[in-house]
Amino acid sequence: MQTKNIRNFSIIAHIDHGKSTLADRLIENTGTLSQREMEAQVLDSMDLERERGITIKAQTVRLNYKAKNGETYELNLIDTPGHVDFTYEVSRSLAACEGALLVVDATQGVEAQTLANVYMALEHDLEIIPVINKVDLPSADPEKVKKEIEDVIGLDASDAILASAKTGIGIEDILEAIVERIPAPHGDDDKPLKALIFDSYFDAYKGVIAHVRLMDGKMKKGTKLKMMATGKVFDVTEVGCFRPAPVEVSELASGDVGYVAGSLKNVRDVRVGDTITTEENPTPEPLPGYRGVTPMVYCGLYPVDSADYDSLKDALEKLQLNDAALVFEAETSLALGFGFRCGFLGLLHMDVIQERLEREYKLKLITTAPSVIYHVHKTDGTMIAIDNPAKLPTPQEIDFMEEPFVKATVIVPNDYVGAVMQVSQDKRGEYKSMDYLDVNRVMLTYHIPLSEIIYDYFDILKSTTRGYASLDYELADYQPAKLVKLDILLNGEPVDALSTIVFADHAAYRGRQLAAKLKEIIPKQMFEIPIQAAVGSKIIARENVRAFRKDVLAKCYGGDISRKRKLLEKQKEGKKRMKAVGSVEIPQEAFMAVLKIH
Ligand code: GDP
Ligand code: MG
Repeated sequence: MQTKNIRNFSIIAHIDHGKSTLADRLIENTGTLSQREMEAQVLDSMDLERERGITIKAQTVRLNYKAKNGETYELNLIDTPGHVDFTYEVSRSLAACEGALLVVDATQGVEAQTLANVYMALEHDLEIIPVINKVDLPSADPEKVKKEIEDVIGLDASDAILASAKTGIGIEDILEAIVERIPAPHGDDDKPLKALIFDSYFDAYKGVIAHVRLMDGKMKKGTKLKMMATGKVFDVTEVGCFRPAPVEVSELASGDVGYVAGSLKNVRDVRVGDTITTEENPTPEPLPGYRGVTPMVYCGLYPVDSADYDSLKDALEKLQLNDAALVFEAETSLALGFGFRCGFLGLLHMDVIQERLEREYKLKLITTAPSVIYHVHKTDGTMIAIDNPAKLPTPQEIDFMEEPFVKATVIVPNDYVGAVMQVSQDKRGEYKSMDYLDVNRVMLTYHIPLSEIIYDYFDILKSTTRGYASLDYELADYQPAKLVKLDILLNGEPVDALSTIVFADHAAYRGRQLAAKLKEIIPKQMFEIPIQAAVGSKIIARENVRAFRKDVLAKCYGGDISRKRKLLEKQKEGKKRMKAVGSVEIPQEAFMAVLKIH
């Protein structure tokens, strides 16, 4: 295909505005897949993605489109993950494009992630085509949304396309606009190879496969290539494109989007954002913007049955083959035994990994409460990064601590500004700015601890604004904060896996709430179980789980043996996700109880 007939584009949108549905329509309309092959949301291929309706891994598909001018075009649709956890991946996908469809829900208007995505697209100088989706709905107000796009984003929306990804309205117009308005890539086949990696995955047969956008040069089977950031050198065994299944081609040239497979066994060698060149005739400069991935959220993962430790390790290794952002290392807990400390990009990422371990690898796990990374400056002048509250040095060893803050952007209708301010203040947010998007919507920005976002900031925000608030955030910096470790003692014994790091002024309240919550969660046993919350040696709250009045089994004493067995079985069932800590059975819920305190 001649470069002038190639178009590389993404679809950007706030969650639920219809990105995946539109992608399906484009695939269908260009006849890339037959009706029989079409399954709703082709691009969201992982089961989990379909169930949750979100895109976790980006996918790419090449569409062939015969335009009204009679020419055939190659349209490469590069999907982007739709969640703040994956902002960097989104930015790399956009860097592989010349244009983007900006999808805005005609009944909702511009939301926080719409803005975040548009800003990113503008940073990459992309041609943006506004698409106002869901115009089939009775409550659609395309004129209002157009005005919002103009006023808030500053984009000309006069030729925005009115569409319904559901009913097919406007799809033809969108395809024509892609051809007419998005520039063809400009690269030079004769220059040294310069290709951007915007995704990678592990294939059991072909090894690691990198998704690439060629800026200059060519690549084909047999060439010796080099990753500029990792320095890894490899032989190309296959190049191809996505339809959407990978299909081998003889060569990829400048402007093309496709994949390259080679003698690579580890996704860590194939970093998103890295530049590929040839070893023989390398490009002098890599593409800008490369960044290593850094996990933001950590938690402990422990098998309920300690015999599953090796299976858990295998499963994590397998998942890591496809996920360079997942990190883990062995850790032991006095309470939970042998397990792993795992790092994730964010809470969604953590949830997804946990769910995949349970579903795909049939593991029963205990997950400890997520924690951010704290910077602990010690009195001896050294600084350590702590990803596990149990590892916090004693107060005597600590000079001061810092925690990560984010810049949070919240968009809400006017009426809820007060509510947003209250929640943000309660969560230690520092007010930064407020802008009117139109007469009845406002954008607020706050500087707020990441740990509060992880806890329940968004849940509370949603509930106090009746679901109207939309949130986006990005890591800002580390700031000193008065923090302490809140410990929980059961039967007088500290349970390391229940320790959390909390803001000092909130410690007493959180301690009381947590003890009360644990009292509800921990099942009664034959003996009384005292629950204590402590900061250092000071006990700040105390509750008791009372003992059973009667032995459950006493009922069947001397009686029906099968009934007794059933009762025991039922108890066992209930214990599935419990861990015996000393003589106390602790259910999974208890480890997450700290997240449930407001
Ligand atoms: P994404 O999160 O941006 O990928 O959004 P989806 O494509 O998953 O769509 C979110 C929801 O909106 C789904 O229930 C879709 O069926 C629905 N939807 C998408 N496009 C339209 C549309 O044009 N009209 C209507 N009525 N619903 C739509
Ligand atoms: Mg989607």
